[in-house]
Amino acid sequence: MTESQNSRASGESADVIVLGAGPAGLVLANLLHAAGIDCVLLERASRTHVQTRPRAGFLAPNTGRILDRHGLAGGLHRHGSRHGTCEFRTRDGRFRLDYGALGQGGQGGQSGQSGQGGQHHVYPQQNLVTDLLTHYLDHGGRVRFDTEALAVGDADGAAPYVTTREPDGRPTRWTGRYVAGCDGRHGAARRSLPPDAVRHHHDHGVTWLGLLAQAPPSLDAVGYAVHDRGFAGHMARTPEVTRYYLQWQRGVPAEAWSEQRIWDELDLRMRAAEHGPLHRGPLLERGIFDLTCDVVEPLRHGSLFLAGDAASLLAPAAAKGANLAVLEAEILAGALTDALTRGDTAGLDGYSDQCLAHIWRAQEFTGWMTRLLHVAPDGEQGTEPSFHAALRRSRLASLR
Ligand SMILES: Cc1cc2nc3c(=O)[nH]c(=O)nc-3n(C[C@H](O)[C@H](O)[C@H](O)COP(=O)(O)OP(=O)(O)OC[C@H]3O[C@@H](n4cnc5c(N)ncnc54)[C@H](O)[C@@H]3O)c2cc1C
Repeated sequence: MTESQNSRASGESADVIVLGAGPAGLVLANLLHAAGIDCVLLERASRTHVQTRPRAGFLAPNTGRILDRHGLAGGLHRHGSRHGTCEFRTRDGRFRLDYGALGQGGQGGQSGQSGQGGQHHVYPQQNLVTDLLTHYLDHGGRVRFDTEALAVGDADGAAPYVTTREPDGRPTRWTGRYVAGCDGRHGAARRSLPPDAVRHHHDHGVTWLGLLAQAPPSLDAVGYAVHDRGFAGHMARTPEVTRYYLQWQRGVPAEAWSEQRIWDELDLRMRAAEHGPLHRGPLLERGIFDLTCDVVEPLRHGSLFLAGDAASLLAPAAAKGANLAVLEAEILAGALTDALTRGDTAGLDGYSDQCLAHIWRAQEFTGWMTRLLHVAPDGEQGTEPSFHAALRRSRLASLR
């Protein structure tokens, strides 16, 4: 009897216990299952909830390549669209950056390998999650919805385990050999870290009102409006739904403004009078996002490995979070497979350093974007406003 079969005989167990059915957990579970690894996915929410939660929409070229490599990109190719241009609107006019032609392939550093250049896919995160979940279940993957992980125990010892609250409220203990914490920023994996784990935290000092509008995109590019009243953003999601962002005063509730006032402000900051009207429609969702970020170091504590938002939270300004989650999941899947099938733990030993290099690069880029786009973000509050505005104009001129 193999070690894997042995552990299964004890009941609620799996060689790898994956916490969280977001992009990180689902890519990891799919790859492990395809490699014949005994794993289970534990998800706090219901299947309906995870399949309908709108968040990311921009997937970097390298994310497409990873999904392609593992046969997980069917929906992305069928229903996603390609994007390679962003348009900046400033008081000096507008200009377009054709970043797709630059061939920057995202965090994976494998630009252009599959001939896709640097174009992003626009594909709503909930659709990607639905595809990944369907693929996993259709291939016989194990998942438990409505099962909340409470804590990870004995990660440094010989018998790591996860305590859970099952759908009927009953407490259960899952035993495994490895635990993958893909359960986001507020999950059990982070809560279970030892006290000496380092958590770097930074507040960019900017808040967004995030909006989902039942309206077609208003331009064929990502729109970044840099305005003295604050940033406004336009991001396509589907032919019928568009995301908009407004830099927002911290502490003001999302419902404080009427839809009319929000659209008028978007028009103003996006300079609709000069560049054409925005397609208006009912606002389906409003959310407040403080642009904060953090990084946990290291990403491994004994048998517990962190991936995705559990490892590092990125402000959504540069659309990196889901892409990092997928990249880290692929790296972790390879490392766990090597360890469990060949006893080769080199990948697990190098996992944290390898992923942290990608994470810090993404954090640096996100910080740069945040300073480029916003009026007086944190760290520049004490600076004379005209000085800050001149710096922004200079940065935009360099980009142009
Ligand atoms: C408005 C917005 C726009 C964004 N746009 C982009 C973008 O365009 N491109 C991009 O790359 N990124 C974007 N992001 C970031 C991206 O959405 C996240 O980085 C991504 O969801 C991270 O994936 P994940 O799998 O690590 O975590 P999540 O997607 O958060 O998944 C974690 C899962 O764990 C579950 N869970 C939590 N706690 C527990 C527990 N105790 N037990 C069991 N399960 C648990 C949760 O229910 C959830 O299903 C955006 C984020 C926001 C908020």
